[in-house]
Amino acid sequence: MKLNELTIKEASQKMAKGEITSAELTKACLARIKEIDKKIKACLTVCEKEASKEAKEADKRRSRGEKGDLLGIPYIAKDNILTKGVKTTAASKILENYIAPFDATIIKKLKEAGAILLAKSNLDEFAHGASTENSAFGPTHNPWDLTRVPGGSSGGSAAAVAADMCLFALGTDTGGSIRCPASFCGVVGLKPTYGRASRFGLIAMTSSTDVPGPITKTIEDAAIVLEAIAGHDKNDATTPDMEVPVYGKFLEKNLKGLKIGRPEEYFGQGLEKGVKEAVEKAIVKLEELGAKIIPIKLPYAKYGIPVYYIITPSEISSNLARFDGVKYGLSSKEAKDLKEIYTKSRGKGFGPEAKRRIMLGTYVLSAGYYDAYYLQAQKVRTKIKEELDFELEKLDAIITPTQPSPAFRIGEQSDDPLKMYLEDIFVTGASLAGLPAVSIPCGFSSGLPVGMQLIGKRFDEGMLFRIGNAYEKATEWDGKKPET
Ligand code: GLN
Repeated sequence: MKLNELTIKEASQKMAKGEITSAELTKACLARIKEIDKKIKACLTVCEKEASKEAKEADKRRSRGEKGDLLGIPYIAKDNILTKGVKTTAASKILENYIAPFDATIIKKLKEAGAILLAKSNLDEFAHGASTENSAFGPTHNPWDLTRVPGGSSGGSAAAVAADMCLFALGTDTGGSIRCPASFCGVVGLKPTYGRASRFGLIAMTSSTDVPGPITKTIEDAAIVLEAIAGHDKNDATTPDMEVPVYGKFLEKNLKGLKIGRPEEYFGQGLEKGVKEAVEKAIVKLEELGAKIIPIKLPYAKYGIPVYYIITPSEISSNLARFDGVKYGLSSKEAKDLKEIYTKSRGKGFGPEAKRRIMLGTYVLSAGYYDAYYLQAQKVRTKIKEELDFELEKLDAIITPTQPSPAFRIGEQSDDPLKMYLEDIFVTGASLAGLPAVSIPCGFSSGLPVGMQLIGKRFDEGMLFRIGNAYEKATEWDGKKPET
């Protein structure tokens, strides 16, 4: 096995035993990026020199007796997460050459733990999308089939993990952007509870649902990364001051007596046959492992998409107002006055989807429409949240498919924004409710990976790790690799 194919756990054990060094591991990942990324296009910036230097530093830390699962582990971060001294573009022309003056809190934490930043990964511009086709720098390709999308918006991160360019990656999830690409690329993607990990230093999309999280090869690795990035941050008032559990201890427990809800609304019309079969098979497996599957109803689930696509553009229209051609990034040289600086810089800098969302958001927030759309959407959002909380009170988790179908072809849906929005049908609920949710590989449909989604109680990521790990250990999906 090549070093870049290792999981975090395997690599850290080998480093602890002195069998390999971080310098070798990092070199193997950089070589893999050079070999394969011409085809996949997952990375926007590669930090070869810095990474090699940091790897040597990590090896020194280990030789001084320092320990830790992430010490010397190479990773890739989505390019909407600020990294000091390394470009952060959000895959937008408006930030094409932007270099942040500070690290996001989660990057800082990973640095302290000794993880090595290898590269910044492609995404839909400002994380708006479900395919990574909205990147101003071109789409990323799915390692399982290069003619297909990797999902989005964290498509570069998921594709990089699936193609073994790194040991793990960071994504952000506002309405499915970690879970969707994880499902399409056959890797694990965790959206933590809203507030579990700091948003400080993330380029804001929808501040009320944005959350960063890990994309990994195994559940165990997701637990390791979450433990490192989670916790209170004085720079993000939505991170509660509560202890971060030792997530590893949840991995040892079996599933006997657990109650997992199966919402009938998530298994009906529009669900591709192969996806349905794979998820149903996973449900049978969970039952064999001792869990009890409970049929439930979530009648408000169907409002997830309309509510999400009112709230999200509203917050986007306000969050993107800061890109005015004055404070950050691109500033039009042709502008003759202040107003033209705004219009020309924004006109040139933003892509079509960002503009669409700014217009939608500005419209639904404007006087006269606010009550009819935004306020109404917030009321239904509360209903969605209450319904999920109510069901979860009696359950340990809820199981659903992550996406209605496997990865679609590049270009197949890009001219139809509504069709693209419908990709989010199963993932918006947990985002609007702020609940933790994970996508776990559970099989294949016509040779393409399928993911199942587990939704948990607020701050109960441990339960998702427990169920996911037991499932992963009892099945053959983990370890299956794309041929590219
Ligand atoms: N598909 C969702 C959207 O386009 C996902 C966004 C996200 O989670 N960043 O809004």
